[in-house]
Order: sequence, then structure tokens, then C-alpha cells
Amino acid sequence: MAEEAHETEGIIRRMPEALANKIAAGEVVQRPASVAKELIENALDAGAEEITLILKQSGRALVQVVDDGSGMSRADAMACFKRHATSKIQSIDDLERIQTLGFRGEALASIAAVAQVALKTRRVEDAAGTRVRVDGGTVAAPAPCAVPGGTSVAVRNLFYNVPARRSFLKTDATEFKHLVDTFQQLALAEPRVAFSLVHNDNEVFRLSPARAEGFFPALRHRIDGLFGADHARRLVQVEDASSYLSVQGFAGEPELHRRGRDEQSFFVNGRHVESGYLAHAVRAAYEELLPEGAFPFFALFLVLDPRHVDVNVHPTKAEVKFDDQSGVYGFLRSAVRRALRAASLTPQFAPAGEEQGASAFTQAGAAPVSFQPVEATATSGAPARPAGDPAPVEGDPTHVRSLYEAPVEEQEAPAARGEGDAHEAAPLWQLQARYVVTVQAEGLLVIDQRAAHRRVLYERALRRLDQGMAETQQLLFPHTADLSATEAELFEELQPHLRKLGFDAERFGGRTVVVRGVPPDLRVGEEGTALEGLLQQYQEHRDTVSLDLRENLARSLAVRSAVRAGQRLRPEEMRALLDDLFACEKPSADPQGRPTIIRLSPDDLDERFGR
Ligand code: ADP
Ligand code: MG
Repeated sequence: MAEEAHETEGIIRRMPEALANKIAAGEVVQRPASVAKELIENALDAGAEEITLILKQSGRALVQVVDDGSGMSRADAMACFKRHATSKIQSIDDLERIQTLGFRGEALASIAAVAQVALKTRRVEDAAGTRVRVDGGTVAAPAPCAVPGGTSVAVRNLFYNVPARRSFLKTDATEFKHLVDTFQQLALAEPRVAFSLVHNDNEVFRLSPARAEGFFPALRHRIDGLFGADHARRLVQVEDASSYLSVQGFAGEPELHRRGRDEQSFFVNGRHVESGYLAHAVRAAYEELLPEGAFPFFALFLVLDPRHVDVNVHPTKAEVKFDDQSGVYGFLRSAVRRALRAASLTPQFAPAGEEQGASAFTQAGAAPVSFQPVEATATSGAPARPAGDPAPVEGDPTHVRSLYEAPVEEQEAPAARGEGDAHEAAPLWQLQARYVVTVQAEGLLVIDQRAAHRRVLYERALRRLDQGMAETQQLLFPHTADLSATEAELFEELQPHLRKLGFDAERFGGRTVVVRGVPPDLRVGEEGTALEGLLQQYQEHRDTVSLDLRENLARSLAVRSAVRAGQRLRPEEMRALLDDLFACEKPSADPQGRPTIIRLSPDDLDERFGR
């Protein structure tokens, strides 16, 4: 060392290995989930048939992986913590045909630099096992120990010696979600390996190994274990090949759609990769089969010559690049579309909201318009105007109004009323099952039914959360919800608030929740899925906008339960919606700030007609 310093006059020095490892750790180890990924990949590389992931405090306190794989000799148990120590690659040639998941030989060294690691390992052929402890990169002398064949690596107090990184970690729920995502991806890729996940002594997953012959039955078995029988039943088989690329796997039926991308998985040559670009190709195959903002479920395995693909753009962010990106996009989209078509799920229905009987004016290039007049009031007994008979529109809105109203109504001059209740007697139409249109003395009012309903539900939810008065609509048949691991965690966290909103629900063991009652203003038919929907929406919001718990819950409920665009409303429903909207504190915008009402005054109309 002294010699080296003497020999050079320069200021460049080789870093001590411990420091190099700590820096490298910044790339490899970002959060508890990265530790879990590296350890599980090592277990898979060691040929394990059974892998258990044990976590405490969302991995902050402990990430441990126990496997029944090859195990290590005493010498290797020491060596494996050295940087670039790997048994998996020795030459440049090897790089070309990597079969194993890990090969850089830097994972264990990096992890050990920023945590307290305890390794226990034994090869079947050895009489005794070896125990090694590493504390912040310092390897203690190995000791013999009794262990079953295989390896256990326990990583405690991640980032204990790097406070900045430690404080960078997100909430427990978020870190746990990353851990579950990682676990799911690895378990999907290896359906024949048994996997378990234990968090704070609760068993979250116990996945039995697939024993069925063949790729598809095995993958379906694993999807069943991870996501439940409902998912496993609603899968469409995808299989296609070209000279460049092949794809195999499952895409979910459209009903299986989710609010987020957490149930989408790509694997390239057996390795999980992220690709927004490819996910877009799959989404494109569904076309309008999926509502806006919905994501399909899929688990797709691409296989191609490794020379055409670069999965190592970054050591941890496995964003993938192909040499023919757009070719892969087109191939994937048509493969999925063909699969959906074969399952007769391709889009072939008319746009929502169109119905015979409603008049439709369609012009080349213009969207079809259906304008459906309804009874003037629910109680007036005035006959509905026959559909398909558009009213002669004249300049004076009150004149238009009079055409639709029973004489008795006409006597109450709408001009004399305050804005707040003017809509009560006014005629209402539904335009394209999206807008409610009404006429007031001041002009034409166009109300976005969905935005309006969101506003109403949102304010109502806030009131319930604040006042804690739980109105519940009891279900005749309690619904059992099989939550994902993340949802179950979230459910625990939110339960007291969910109760205030009107959910009468209870954890039933594992990830099953029994729902006995739901908030009273849910859409008919959605009682069963309301809780899952709400939890998904809550997570979606949490990942995208920063809202406090109360605001997020109220918004989530509003978003999930509001009437959809495309839903026909009966006259009394439209009327109730407008009553509720005008009773709101802020009727003019939905919770996201988008307008609920557009007014067209006679002046506005004059201007548009160029008068
Ligand atoms: P890499 O996986 O890139 O080789 P790691 O730092 O993850 O690098 O692991 C270093 C070496 O330690 C591996 O090459 C392997 O020989 C050994 N090893 C690590 N984990 C295990 C395990 N669970 N079972 C057997 N050997 C292991
Ligand atoms: Mg490795």
C-alpha cells in the first residue's frame, strides 16, 4: 500500500473495497424488495425447489430467504461476499449464453455493505454447515452450524449504516407492495418451485409447486395460487411465434381488469422485465373492450435470441430494449388480439348509450347524437315527447320549455325562481347517456352526469368520515372478497375509516374479507366488488397524487361509485342527481376540479349564431 502511494504522484487511488461495495450498493439495493429479488434469484440459481421469503416490518427489520438448493462449501460461504465473486461466469464467452439469473457477483457484497447479514449454508454432501456473519461489510470468521441442506440468508436492518438511504424508504405499505410485486414476478416465472411468503409471522402466500405437464397448466396453477381462482378461470391463452420471437402466456378476460399495472408481467428469456412500451401493445389489443383507465391482467413470456435483446440496461431497473422495438410491439399486439378473438372477446359492440328509439343524427365525421326527451317532472303526468321528433328550437328558452310542460307547470314561471331549485320543474333530457340537459330562464344547462355524481358522492363521503355516522346497506348475502396481499394490508390500515363510510367488513383469516354491508349510495350490482374497487383506487391515488387519507378515501369512493358515462338514467334519477348536486357546497366542479356544469346563456347563443 505504502509502495503504491510512493510510486505515483497522482491523486487517483484505488478505493477500499468496503467503500466500493457501499457505493455499488446504491445501484443494486434500493429497497427491501431489491434484497428479496437478489436472494430469491440466488436460490433459484442454486436449483432450489422450495423457497421461503420471511419479512419483518416490510423488510426494514428483516428480509430472509431460505432455500433447499445446492448450498455452499465453507470456502464459498466466505468468498461469496467478495465483490465480483461468482460461480456463474468466468469468461467473456460465458456472458453470451447466460442461463442463470445472477452473474455479476455483486449482489451479496453490496447487500452486506449496507446491512447486517447472517448466512447459514450446507451442501448435502457435507457433514456440517457453515455460519457466516457480515456486519456493514466486515466478514466475521465462519463457524460450523447445524442446518438442513440448502441456504438461508438473513438481512437485518437494511441501511442501518446509511441513514440517508434509510430515510428514503417509503411507508411500510408501499415497501410491502414492492416486496409482494417482486415475489409475484419471481413466483410466476417458476411455477414448479414452491414459494412461501411470511410477513410479521403471518403467512401471506403458500404456493404449491405446479405438477401438471406443460407450460400452460403450470402457469395457470401458479396464477391460481397467487391471484385466486377467479383469475385462473378468466384467462385467455396467448401463443404465437415468428422467426425472431415467440410469446406464450395468459392475458386476462376484459372483466378481470385492474386500476393499476401491478398485475402485468413480462418475462424475456425467463427474466422479469418492465416495459411500458410492451404493456401498451397489449392494452392496444383490447381496444374498447376495456373501460378508460383500466389495465388488463397478463403474464407473458417472450423468448428470442439473446443477441436481439438488452435486458441489462441497468442492474436493477430491468427495462428491456429490443433491436426491433416496433416489430416486437406489432407482433405482441396482434398475438393478443388474435387470442382475444379466438375466445370471442373482440370488440364488436355499439358505443355505449345508443339505443333504438332515441333519435340519432349522424353526419359524416360527426359523432352520433341521441337526444332523449323525458317527462317534464316525475309527478306532473305530462306525456313524454315521442322520441325521434326533435323540438323546433327558437330563441326564447322559456318558449322551448313550454313545449314540454303541462300547463299547470307553466304557471310557475321559472324566471321567478332562484337558481338553486330552477331545475326542479324544468324538463330534463339525457344526451348520449352522458350529459343531462335542462333549460332555465338564464339559458341551457349541460351537466356531466359522471362528474356531478362524483361531486355528490365525494361531499357525502367527507361528511361521513368526519361525523362517523355509519349508514350501511346490509347485503342479503354477505360477499367474500379475496384481496391481494397489498389490499389486505391496506384494508387493515383503513378499516376504522371504511366502517365510517358504511362498509361492514371483517377480515376472515388470510386475505379473505367478508363484506356484510356497503355504503348506501353504491351502484346497483357493484356491491360485491365495491371494497376491492375502493382499495385499488386508493392505491392508485396514493401512487399518483398526494392526498391525505380522508381526501383519498372520499375521492376514491366517488370515482369508483359514480354513475358511468354511458349509463341511462331514469327521469327521477336525473332529477335526484340535480337536486343532490345543487345541494353541494361546491356544485360546479368534481373532486378533481373538472367542471360539472356548462351554461349556455342566450347571449352565448346569439354570439354563436352571429347575431
Ligand atoms: P451472482 O448471483 O451474480 O453470482 P451474488 O453476489 O448474488 O452474485 O452471489 C455470489 C455467489 O454466491 C453466487 O455465484 C453463488 O455461487 C453463491 N450463492 C449465493 N447465494 C446462494 C444460494 N442461495 N445457494 C447457493 N449458492 C449461493
Ligand atoms: Mg445473485
